[in-house]
Amino acid sequence: MSRYWSDFVKQLQPYTPGEQPKINNLTKLNTNENPYGPSPDVLQAMRQLLNDDLRLYPPPNADDLKTTIADYYQVNAQQVFVGNGSDEVLAHIFNGLLKQDKPIFFPDISYSFYPVFCQLYDIEYERIPLTLDYSIDLQAYQRPNGGIIFPNPNAPTGRLLGLDVIEQLLQANQDSVVVVDEAYIDFGGQSAVALVDKYANLIVVHTLSKSRSLAGMRIGYAIASTELVEGLDRVKNSFNSYPLGHLQIAAAIASFKDETYFQQTCTQVIDSREQLVEQLQQLGFDVLPSAANFVFARHRDKSASAMAGELRERGLIVRHFNKPRIDQFLRITVGTPKDNQLLVDSLSAILGS
Ligand SMILES: *Cc1c(COP(=O)(O)O)cnc(C)c1O
Repeated sequence: MSRYWSDFVKQLQPYTPGEQPKINNLTKLNTNENPYGPSPDVLQAMRQLLNDDLRLYPPPNADDLKTTIADYYQVNAQQVFVGNGSDEVLAHIFNGLLKQDKPIFFPDISYSFYPVFCQLYDIEYERIPLTLDYSIDLQAYQRPNGGIIFPNPNAPTGRLLGLDVIEQLLQANQDSVVVVDEAYIDFGGQSAVALVDKYANLIVVHTLSKSRSLAGMRIGYAIASTELVEGLDRVKNSFNSYPLGHLQIAAAIASFKDETYFQQTCTQVIDSREQLVEQLQQLGFDVLPSAANFVFARHRDKSASAMAGELRERGLIVRHFNKPRIDQFLRITVGTPKDNQLLVDSLSAILGS
């Protein structure tokens, strides 16, 4: 606390990101980063831009990137909004589309940045409980609201909803914006981008941080009707005209152009996930069905916080949330086959089995 802070700043409770340790011999399975590096084409495209042209501002609207994304998803470039990580895209969505008279709805167990944005922008919200099997019940969202947001697959559970139930919600909820945060959709789900031309109130948010191995570049985007994108552009141009630099734009374009690499790395992660789930089950874990690049698992005997601590002593970091309903779970990012084996061996030693 400082007396120089505004009253507003004094009452903020900011988001705590997963640890990024300085020591690099740790096996990092705590923030859902991709275990594989970005496509070699991405690195090449970035290297080509390391010259004096960096003195110039980047194109404020990242038009080439928007066109690339639009072609990839078969939409118009005017339906694409880009930002400095999807967290920034989400921030503009909360500020520009979700600040309404009625409270917005999101799941009680979900991305913990949502309530932080609500506090930042003074948005009222209601948390809708997950069902007993930790899935989102969209029926429970069908009453008057100022907007709806949920990740699909959900984080930190990994559970996926089908497009059929999302479309049912959109049918029943046409008076407020519905945000589908698809940070993990490439690891096994069907994207709601298929529905944006049909529902003017739908906005789908993506990131290049997870499936495209570019967390360190901070690139996110959203796809929606042109009217929603125009609203977001008004917010963006009142905040930062150049959210993406030259290197970010080039990296993102190169990533979308190397479909083979993208498919290969996603398939690798998905295959490793399926193997990891089986191994964890053999160790006595109950693992929620995951369509993401992480699994959410609890052990039938051993406490999750104790396991997280013991893994840490052995040089592995996983995420544990000290929160009601989920404090018996560990969220474990799917790593390389070698990382996963190390995790399984360590857990096996910790459990004495
Ligand atoms: C990782 C994540 C994000 C943030 O992604 P960035 O593009 O790195 O800011 C947003 N939503 C969910 C659900 C995530 O897990």
